[in-house]
Amino acid sequence: MLVDFHTHTSASDGALAPAALIERARAAGVTELAITDHDTLAGYRAAAALADGLVLHPGVELSCQWSGATIHVVGLGVRVDDPTLAAGLAALDSARQQRAQTIAERLASRGFPGALAGARAIAGESQLGRPHFARWLVEAGHLPDEATAFKRYLGRNKTGDVKAFWPGLAEVTGWITAAGGIAVLAHPLHYKFTRMKLRRLVTDFAGAGGGAIEVVSGRQAPGQATALSQLAADFDLAVSVGSDFHADTPHGPRLGVASAPFADRPNVWSRLAARAGARAASRESTAP
Ligand code: MN
Ligand code: MN
Ligand code: MN
Repeated sequence: MLVDFHTHTSASDGALAPAALIERARAAGVTELAITDHDTLAGYRAAAALADGLVLHPGVELSCQWSGATIHVVGLGVRVDDPTLAAGLAALDSARQQRAQTIAERLASRGFPGALAGARAIAGESQLGRPHFARWLVEAGHLPDEATAFKRYLGRNKTGDVKAFWPGLAEVTGWITAAGGIAVLAHPLHYKFTRMKLRRLVTDFAGAGGGAIEVVSGRQAPGQATALSQLAADFDLAVSVGSDFHADTPHGPRLGVASAPFADRPNVWSRLAARAGARAASRESTAP
């Protein structure tokens, strides 16, 4: 069985519209999918009615800070109308807007005025981020290509590498659990922490109510899933798997991860199924 609990649509920084992502997942043989856009449920909402023949879970990927680093926490199976989560998403949106404004101010001071309006026009309905500023710098004729934009102005430690004021790890984990979701530590190896620091992160995450960690995230070296499954077991956390699909790229991840190797571990798909079963049973018992 192919499942995927970490995907993006054009509602955040993915290339495919929600309907197209669903179509692509179905064509790839994925039977169970979560749409986990950054800081928004809009992609899930747009896709919810189209998921015929596919188990589709509401999800979201939230940014937070921990020990000076930006960490991503995926929420799976959240109630989409939960007021605590909605307030959290609004706070993240304003942090993102604030960051965009600061990037624009810094670009203006380097001789590129009008970046905010320009990047906004390019972003359209999508969340405004550095890629939109990069494209604007190219389209406005300032730079030859987006790679140059990142290399000179937007990449790590450049003037446009503005850190957003994300909320703390415990805070965002709390929003997810308040909304009835499972909080999943996303791509634990992307942070490039030492083994000790990663264990400190997982300790804090579990202590904050975290429920699972991603043991497969896109393409990764063999052996990493085993090591991460052991980490999950050490902290009594379930495992989750996902592609973190954003777009079709030659060397990028494909949609869908085989669930079979993790079937005997506590995993998010059986937990989500158990919750759905419990909800159905309570509906039945309260039915007239
Ligand atoms: Mn992304
Ligand atoms: Mn992420
Ligand atoms: Mn992601």
